[in-house]
Amino acid sequence: MISVDVVIVGAGIIGCSTAFELSKSGLKIEVIEKHQPGAMGSGWTLAGVRQSGRHYAEIPLAKYSVDKWSCLNEILDHRTNYKQEGNLRLARNTAEDKIIQNLVKEQKKNGLEIEYLKNTNEISEICPSISENVISASYCPTDGHADPIDTLRAYKEAAQKNGVIFTNNEEVLEISEKGSKIEYVRTSKRKIFPKFCVLANGIFCNNVLKSIGKIIPIEIPIVTVIQTEKTNPLLKPVIGVANASLAMRQENNGCFRISSGFQTWKGKIKTKNDMPYVETNLEEIKNTITQSIEIIPQLKKSSIKSFWGGLIDLTPDALPVIDHLSDCEGLIVASGFSGHGFGIAPAVGGIVSDLVLNKKTRLPIDPFSFHRFQNHLISKKKSDLTLHG
Ligand SMILES: Cc1cc2nc3c(=O)[nH]c(=O)nc-3n(C[C@H](O)[C@H](O)[C@H](O)COP(=O)(O)OP(=O)(O)OC[C@H]3O[C@@H](n4cnc5c(N)ncnc54)[C@H](O)[C@@H]3O)c2cc1C
Repeated sequence: MISVDVVIVGAGIIGCSTAFELSKSGLKIEVIEKHQPGAMGSGWTLAGVRQSGRHYAEIPLAKYSVDKWSCLNEILDHRTNYKQEGNLRLARNTAEDKIIQNLVKEQKKNGLEIEYLKNTNEISEICPSISENVISASYCPTDGHADPIDTLRAYKEAAQKNGVIFTNNEEVLEISEKGSKIEYVRTSKRKIFPKFCVLANGIFCNNVLKSIGKIIPIEIPIVTVIQTEKTNPLLKPVIGVANASLAMRQENNGCFRISSGFQTWKGKIKTKNDMPYVETNLEEIKNTITQSIEIIPQLKKSSIKSFWGGLIDLTPDALPVIDHLSDCEGLIVASGFSGHGFGIAPAVGGIVSDLVLNKKTRLPIDPFSFHRFQNHLISKKKSDLTLHG
């Protein structure tokens, strides 16, 4: 019988940051990953690190995380390629301008350092490559971006140094409970008897939760991502737009990552070399390219390096579930990040580690409770805060 105190399901950014935070506790920890670290959301991501444009409930997590991001290279002793170069959210017409003005007003009330740029001149001072067709923007100078694969590797290697075991190509299939406690975790290869199990398995959270008769009512839309070949330095801040139909950033190496808005998805997850992928379509690629050239005309000359589809674990209120399950002792859920979990991963890892160690969580988690979806009174109205990037 293998003896492990904590099983973490999924080696995405949430599983890896949790593993690192917990690795200092002296508990024996194993992260079990169906494919490879970063195989899904945390590899498909744009990797913006933003506080702006978030629901007020997430702002404390985002602020806490930004403080951590500034010293994450030193904490993890590994580069993350984090750059605090700001976030611009753009308005391309008067309807979008209203959205931006409201967003700035609301977010200032919530204590965020954010300003309204009221014309092209003000926007050009921050980012000269942006087209004159953009009429206004919000600007949060303390937002930024990082490299997702470097960050994941940084968290993973730091956790490994502290003794965490990472196991790839193994799927957690079931949690069995006995007397309202975890009895065992069954994987595609074995049974494990941990005291705690953390579900950080993104869009597949329900595959495991259903074994104890629970679900989180997520939808799974798709986002199309295009990566260009290297171009000249054109963009420092991460760009979003008021109606959330586009986001982009220029990576450290000069390539652009450009992502579309959410689209309904009814496809299948395929695998190649044991890595999952989802197909997107030419229309979304064309639409995303057209919008990006309208914003940065110099992109017209860029070549496409790659493109992919990314799936989102979207909850009804676009907020994650970060909670322990009161009726299954030892089970903790950290899923449903709704397209904006990358930036807040440092805070989430800390909070989940507090939950495992039965400490008061370092930040409030009431808005992220598991039970908020467990009655039949869930509003049919969808959150309009489905921004990413
Ligand atoms: C295109 C796109 C753009 C985005 N842009 C941003 C952004 O700019 N800023 C931001 O903050 N967020 C962004 N996000 C969201 C962010 O990337 C995700 O919220 C975050 O990466 C989710 O991390 P995770 O660890 O919860 O899930 P994942 O990274 O999906 O990790 C879950 C892991 O669990 C594994 N797994 C699943 N089931 C099992 C099982 N049964 N057993 C074992 N392993 C299992 C999977 O293989 C996977 O590796 C974006 C997402 C996408 C798709």
